Amino acid sequence: MASGRVVIVGGGAIGLACAAALAQAGAEVVVLERFHHVHDLGSHGGYTRVTRQAYHEGSVYIPLVRESEAAWEVLERGAGGGGPGSILVRCGLMEAGPPENADLQAVFAACRAHDLEHRVLDAATVSAELGFRLPPSWVACESGGGYVRVPAALDALRRAATDAGAVLRYDAQVNEVVRSGGRLRVLLESGELIPCEHIVVAAGAYLQPLLPSRLRALFAVRRRVLGWTAPADDAARDRLRRFPVWALFDPRGMFYGFPYSEEGIAGFKLALHVYTAPGERSGLRAEAVDREVRPGDLAPLADFLADRLPAAQGPWAGAKVCLYNCTPSGDFVVDRHPDDPKVIVAGGFSGHGFKFAPAIGRIVRGLVEGAAASEVPEIFRWSHHLGGPGW
Ligand SMILES: Cc1cc2nc3c(=O)[nH]c(=O)nc-3n(C[C@H](O)[C@H](O)[C@H](O)COP(=O)(O)OP(=O)(O)OC[C@H]3O[C@@H](n4cnc5c(N)ncnc54)[C@H](O)[C@@H]3O)c2cc1C
Repeated sequence: MASGRVVIVGGGAIGLACAAALAQAGAEVVVLERFHHVHDLGSHGGYTRVTRQAYHEGSVYIPLVRESEAAWEVLERGAGGGGPGSILVRCGLMEAGPPENADLQAVFAACRAHDLEHRVLDAATVSAELGFRLPPSWVACESGGGYVRVPAALDALRRAATDAGAVLRYDAQVNEVVRSGGRLRVLLESGELIPCEHIVVAAGAYLQPLLPSRLRALFAVRRRVLGWTAPADDAARDRLRRFPVWALFDPRGMFYGFPYSEEGIAGFKLALHVYTAPGERSGLRAEAVDREVRPGDLAPLADFLADRLPAAQGPWAGAKVCLYNCTPSGDFVVDRHPDDPKVIVAGGFSGHGFKFAPAIGRIVRGLVEGAAASEVPEIFRWSHHLGGPGW
């Protein structure tokens, strides 16, 4: 392990996973978090996150999903862990859409290329088994997946980090990464300067102000809304409780959801995943995002349920605003800062990063330890993003 203090900016899933990986490798780690442990103001609000193995976003992600799922299970079995299923719930995954949909085709291709156990279903079977109303031509793929329990995952990562000696500081907002006279420091809102050997910037949707403007422009903060319905019918709720996680590739985007549960908010949780919605522009600051859920926010989810899954309709039991920080391609940035190899940026998780936190922690540890750039997947490097189409 490289000597000297490593400061990690951000105590979300990525920052804590980096802290655990680095502290376990013997580094002196300090995590600085502007809010507190587990909160709704970043990207991890809403209690649960999907994990799926047949990753349509690219084959690079598939071994990282496997690695991370295994790591979640190690954490739940470890000291202070809650035992099997306390972090990772393997309830399976059902994805459906028109056969010509490129993402669904990529799901099937991933299953074949990576020899993933899966079942091909027709629309009638999906309707009989789960109650979705799909056009008769649609097809579906059942494969491995489930969900990660956010508070349990963050508790376990924090425990792993602190057990290995990492220090966590809350209400500690970093305003600037300072490089002067060959020295690296972070400047806190309080005026305190903390010297360090390496900095890991894992600031989620608050990343942009910590980057120079030419890099900032690669990221776009997106406001996304999660909703939970409360179906009145007992039999419908029981059926929804036995659901897998699911995703439907619809012309409006990927609607997805979870089994009915009491995790955080009792209800049937669903959302719409798109990197860019009509009319959205880059330049939004995380601090400026409207945190109130407006009636119109839930209309697309209500319309979707009315069309595709009427049994899950019901009054809204809850809703939350959450933030994506997207790159144009949706691929992550996990790389050394182009201006300073001792600063590592882990950001742009584009609404699908949580499940990968343990694998990202391992990659970041390698970068701190001096790994060659080639050890980082090419799609996570600045060169991939800076050469891309932009927003
Ligand atoms: C609605 C929604 C649904 C999602 N669904 C899924 C899903 O199903 N599966 C999945 O894998 N992923 C999903 N994601 C994405 C996933 O939640 C994120 O990719 C992941 O949480 C990012 O982790 P992070 O640690 O980068 O960000 P965060 O969890 O936001 O953590 C960053 C932390 O940094 C702190 N911070 C920021 N700036 C500073 C600063 N200057 N000084 C100190 N601290 C600072 C913040 O307070 C925050 O706690 C979803 C995201 C949203 C919003």
